[in-house]
Amino acid sequence: MRIRVDLKTEELPRKWYNVLADLPFKLDPPLDPETNKPVSFEKLALIFPSPLLEQEMSDKRYVDIPEEVLKEYAVYRPTPLIRATFLEEYLQTPARIYYKYEGVSPTGSHKTNTAIAQAYYNKISGTKTLVTETGAGQWGSALSYAGSKFGLEVKVFMVRISYEQKPMRKYIMKMFGGSVTPSPSEETPFGRKLLREDPENPGSLGIAIGEALQTVLQRKDAKYALGSVLNHVLLHQTVIGLEIKKQLQLIGESPDILIGCHGGGSNFGGTILPFVPDKLEGKNIRFVAVEPESCPSLTKGEYRYDFGDTAGLTPLLKMYTLGKDFIPPKIHAGGLRYHGSAPVIARLVKEKIVEAVSYPQEEIFKWAKLFAKLEGIIPAPESAHAITHTAMEAITAKEEKKEKVIVFNLSGHGLLDLTAYA
Ligand SMILES: *Cc1c(COP(=O)(O)O)cnc(C)c1O
Repeated sequence: MRIRVDLKTEELPRKWYNVLADLPFKLDPPLDPETNKPVSFEKLALIFPSPLLEQEMSDKRYVDIPEEVLKEYAVYRPTPLIRATFLEEYLQTPARIYYKYEGVSPTGSHKTNTAIAQAYYNKISGTKTLVTETGAGQWGSALSYAGSKFGLEVKVFMVRISYEQKPMRKYIMKMFGGSVTPSPSEETPFGRKLLREDPENPGSLGIAIGEALQTVLQRKDAKYALGSVLNHVLLHQTVIGLEIKKQLQLIGESPDILIGCHGGGSNFGGTILPFVPDKLEGKNIRFVAVEPESCPSLTKGEYRYDFGDTAGLTPLLKMYTLGKDFIPPKIHAGGLRYHGSAPVIARLVKEKIVEAVSYPQEEIFKWAKLFAKLEGIIPAPESAHAITHTAMEAITAKEEKKEKVIVFNLSGHGLLDLTAYA
């Protein structure tokens, strides 16, 4: 029995996959809040470098991964696909469960896949400083790492509650040369306003994005980098799903259910998007996005245009949203505390191509601990959402007496989240 499927470095995908080329519908464009018309390239070019904007708007099916990016990917990719045999035995399920393990990346999550690409395109476009936000710190760590690789300064607004709960990631960012400010902060007009209203404001991704954008708009050679939600971010993450496809083919498996946790949609999108054409061609395959019950954008949000940040500085995106002012409860899965969703994933949910479910925090930690004991990997609390739903599907397979192939993305390790476990 194959327990672990490894690809060789030479088998690394050489192109990212753009699902927009294959969808039978066009996404609603991002709108300029001042005119309510599609936002112009020039306006977006104030915050993003042109190569990334071109990817954002492209409907070309494949995009070549630059050599410089491949070289960085090769440090930790291809990542393994592992069969969760001990979890299968524990659940006594006829399902075969596989997980793609992204925790082997330099900063411990899938986020380096896009951080490296974004740092590269910014570098060749003349950017000196990248400004960003981070929730639990994974994105800030990934971008600090990528920035250090390509000689860029990185400035990170970190959601205050995570800054306090997760000091370790602050050290990682600093080690790679990033500078970290808890958000809301005194550094921006928006942060100052929020702190005047409530000095205890725990912050949120929406607020931190607002502060990062205000900072970028004030500086000349600074650009903004977003770790999720946008088309180009999901595009870079498809390296995950493309590898999964090759790995499953190697062992002659075909997936029945693909599962990933959903914060802004990047690890989920990266996992499922390369499989979407199979479903559109009629293959019986399900995609399930898993979110926290306390921040249920896909399961309880409204499908409409909304801002990506709380300050109202981003273009309006058509997505499932809990409203830009929604401040999610202080759950440990900081990376899932986002009011919105990726427009691509939102539309796939709307079209019933993707399903969404949610679980409460007690439940996901129960499964996370069990998974750690059985499989030997302590998952990030975010990834624990995917594990929880995988277990539910495996139990259903047992009740139905059906052999199913379930694949989930273990988006990151939880070694820096031990206080959450404690
Ligand atoms: C950031 C993060 C997430 C959530 O972000 P998505 O864009 O939805 O993938 C999930 N898991 C881990 C480990 C993360 O770092």
